[in-house]
Amino acid sequence: MLEVQQLSHSFPSGTESTQVLSGIDFRVERGEMVALLGSSGSGKSTLLNLMAGLMKPTEGSILIAGRSIDKMSENELAVFRRTHIGFIFQAYELIPHLTVRENVELPLVFQGLRSKVRREKAIELLTRVGLAGKTEMFPSQLSGGQQQRVSIARSLITEPAVVFADEPTGNLDTKTEAEIIDLLIELNENSGITFVIVTHEHEVAKRTKRIIQLRDGYLVEGGAAEALADVTAAEAEPLTEVRP
Ligand code: ADP
Ligand code: MG
Repeated sequence: MLEVQQLSHSFPSGTESTQVLSGIDFRVERGEMVALLGSSGSGKSTLLNLMAGLMKPTEGSILIAGRSIDKMSENELAVFRRTHIGFIFQAYELIPHLTVRENVELPLVFQGLRSKVRREKAIELLTRVGLAGKTEMFPSQLSGGQQQRVSIARSLITEPAVVFADEPTGNLDTKTEAEIIDLLIELNENSGITFVIVTHEHEVAKRTKRIIQLRDGYLVEGGAAEALADVTAAEAEPLTEVRP
């Protein structure tokens, strides 16, 4: 479904360039739900934006559903993104003057679907994310958690191959965070959509079946258990030195 091969990325800084990702290699199977865990500045958002085709990598390639998105032209990529990739942002990024339903319909407007079909699909998805009674409200009339539900519905309306979420619970309290993660897990289990969720919180990462951990732009090797042991060790009290 998703394959990242020898991916490296640098940003220009003055006359030099700063490398923020180095030799990243991994794959995500169809229907998997994966957490991309790492502390602030470790390169999570850069990696997510590269995988979602929002930027081109300096080196390496990214395959989604068997296609190299880094080799596509701008136009090809724009169409591919709209049809095969969903994105959920930390700050929801809803359009304030459109209703909840219109926000969710928007990706289908670009696909030229008739308004009746769009409306039906949007209402069906909004019902699925628990917002059946809110379809004609505006985003500002909803709580943060409800706005993120709208954004989740919008990310799914094109039936994408993969949905990327960048710190989707970063603006929410702990209780709402748990509810949003519950919803993402439920959608993953019942729809088979592949999710990659960026987070810096291991409490969130632990809820997924697999963790990919980044540290200073490098992938930390090992599965979920190892990544968590690592986080726990980093948080533990420093060991006092024992002399023989
Ligand atoms: P994370 O999401 O894990 O916090 P980022 O991917 O946002 O990390 O950033 C990784 C590193 O890349 C940081 O050192 C950040 O300052 C740098 N960086 C991110 N975006 C840019 C950019 N557009 N230009 C220059 N440096 C950037
Ligand atoms: Mg980030």
